[in-house]
Formats: sequence, C-alpha cells, structure tokens
Amino acid sequence: MPADSLTLSQPRLGKLSLLGLPAANLVEFFENIDEKPYRARQIMRWLYQRYVTDYGEMTDLSSPLRKQLAEMTSLALPPVLKREHSDDGTRKWLLDVGANQAIETVYIPEPDRGTLCISSQAGCALDCAFCATGYQGFNRNLTAAEILGQVVLAARELTPAKITNVVFMGMGEPLANYRNVLPVVHLLLDDQAFGLSRRRVTISTAGVVPHILKLATDCNVALAVSLHAPTDELRDRLVPINKVHPIAELLDSCWKYAEGQASRSITFEYVLLDGVNDSVAHARQLVKLLRNKPAKVNLIPFNAFPESEFRCSPQPAIDAFWQTLRNAGLIATVRRPRGDDIAAACGQLAGRVRDRQRVRLGDRVIGASSS
Ligand code: SAH
Repeated sequence: MPADSLTLSQPRLGKLSLLGLPAANLVEFFENIDEKPYRARQIMRWLYQRYVTDYGEMTDLSSPLRKQLAEMTSLALPPVLKREHSDDGTRKWLLDVGANQAIETVYIPEPDRGTLCISSQAGCALDCAFCATGYQGFNRNLTAAEILGQVVLAARELTPAKITNVVFMGMGEPLANYRNVLPVVHLLLDDQAFGLSRRRVTISTAGVVPHILKLATDCNVALAVSLHAPTDELRDRLVPINKVHPIAELLDSCWKYAEGQASRSITFEYVLLDGVNDSVAHARQLVKLLRNKPAKVNLIPFNAFPESEFRCSPQPAIDAFWQTLRNAGLIATVRRPRGDDIAAACGQLAGRVRDRQRVRLGDRVIGASSS
C-alpha cells in the first residue's frame, strides 16, 4: 500500500493511561480509589507479563473494579497501520500516534536473542545529515504509554518468540524525551514488569550530554553513542548537536557514565559514509579518542533512503577501517544490515508522516527537553 494512502486518525483525547505509569504511581492510583496497593502488582502482571490490555480478561479483579477501571482509565496501544515481514525474519510495525503521525517499531531475531528497536519521538529534531528520521523533522515526544505500548504490542504478537533485548534506536532521540523514557526504562528492568537486565536495555543517543550524566545516576543501562566522526569539524556537519556538546565534552560524559557500570563499555556507533568519514586517517583519529577507554565500536554501513545525499562506503573501505581499529587494539564490529528489504534498517525509519514541521537544532525542542 503506498504510504500516502494511509489514513491516520486524529489524536485521541485521553483518559488516564495506566500503561507506562511508574509502579509507585500505580500504587498511589489504587490507594486513591480505595483499593489495596497490591492491585498495582496484579495490573502490572497482566500488562507486562501476559500482554493483556483488556480489563475484561483480568480475571483476578472483581467485575465492579474492572468496570470502574475501564471507565476511568485507558490501556490503549497505538493502532497498527501496517505490519511488514522481511525475508530475514525482521518484522516492522507502523503505528498510528494520531494527528497524521506514525512511528515505527522493529523486531530483529538472531539465533541467541530477539531485539526490539523502539521509537521515542514522532520524528526527530537533531537533524543528523544521514538519517531519514531527521530528514522528516520533529513532531512531538511520545508518551510513556506510546513508548512502552510498542513493547507490549510486539511481545503479544511475537509470542512465543521472545524479546530479550530492547534498544532505543528507532525514531527519535531518547535523551531529548527523558521525562517519558525514564519510566519506561524502569518498567523494562522491573521484575514485576518485563524484568530485563540492565545490559539488555540500550539507550542510543546522538549526545545529549546533560542527560547522559543524569541517566548515569537515575538508571545505569547500556549506553550507545552515535559518534560518526572523529573531529569536531566533521561531526558538526554530520551530527549538529555536536555544536552544542562537542566531542571532548561528550566523551568526558561517557567515561563518567562508564565509571558506574562495572566493566561494561560504551558502544560508539559510527556510520560509514563513502568519502566522508571512512578513510584510514579517520580511523586513526578515532583510535586516538577511544584507545585505552571502556569503549567498543559498532561500524554501521550507511543505509540509503530516497532523499539521502550519501553513499555507503565500499566493502574494501569498510574492511580497512575495521582493520585499523582492530590493529590498534580496539574492539570493533561491523553491523550487518537487517530488514533492509522492508526499510527497517538503521536510519531508514521515517514513519511515513505528513505535515511534519522541520524543527531544527537550537529550537525550543532541545532547550526545553524535560528533565
Ligand atoms: N537518536 C538516537 C537513536 C537513533 S538511531 C541516536 O542518534 O543514537 C540509531 C542509530 O542509527 C544511530 O547511531 C544513528 O546515527 C544511526 N543511523 C541513522 N541513520 C542511519 C542510516 N541512514 N544508515 C545507518 N545508520 C543510521
């Protein structure tokens, strides 16, 4: 179906969503309606361990309580506009988040794990030069319900396939939507909810330094940083938030983050763009930045999208770059593109949206990002 023929619904005016609500707030909610605090645990089990979002099925709640909850609250998941299956097993959901906006969620099965890649914003304001989401501009932050709803929805549809890892590498900059991302991360880790371990939840950021530092104390999950260039001059062009938080400041925050992470490294993502950032000289500069640090490098062959001005580096350049890092003792891997036949690969998530404003770096979105 051509993307533009999709009819997106209008924004839904809301009852209180219990989805994505922090455990403590859920307890408070039940106390406020004169119910026992353990109701919170019951609801969490239904939502996050059985993926049930219909009060009618919650058989350990009395029917008057179910009725009351249905009247007062919502457990709505974003409606699915489209499901796609790749030949390699990757799956993609296009989800309606109202007002002509759609987001994407991707599941990537591998022999030893199943990774769900989730979106944190409708669009993105960071305007990285090579990213399809950035090209679309920014619309709004997703709510905690919309972010966690992606996990509930995918988990339900994938049963018995299992989500073992969750990465915030879909649309948007998670650390520019800190207020809503943090409770989601807590629920992903909470044994009463999804119960994933810290190293199986990864926040990927283009470098919102103040929130990297905040995350270090709030919730020390795995961190991936989209570096993509070894000098400020080049990074200013490719990842414009570098003009606000340049490389030295970014790396400093990374090493501080790593201090709280008993022997776990930070992953540095580096998209290889033909003739732009992929020479052996660039690789040597990268070595100087990362050598003897708690760092590993994930090289990402560029995934093209229709409007992009870049090309993927040729294989010999990828090999030479990788070899230079390895010879210098860095841990480096090359990411194999997954789901590229359904445009589910890194940086190809555009959400097929219309009427999206282009909000640029430096506009209110970044300045006002919540804390
Ligand atoms: N905003 C976050 C998460 C988004 S994307 C961040 O910047 O980290 C996840 C990764 O895909 C990032 O490293 C991003 O730079 C990379 N990426 C974006 N566009 C890409 C493309 N066209 N090809 C390959 N990787 C891309």
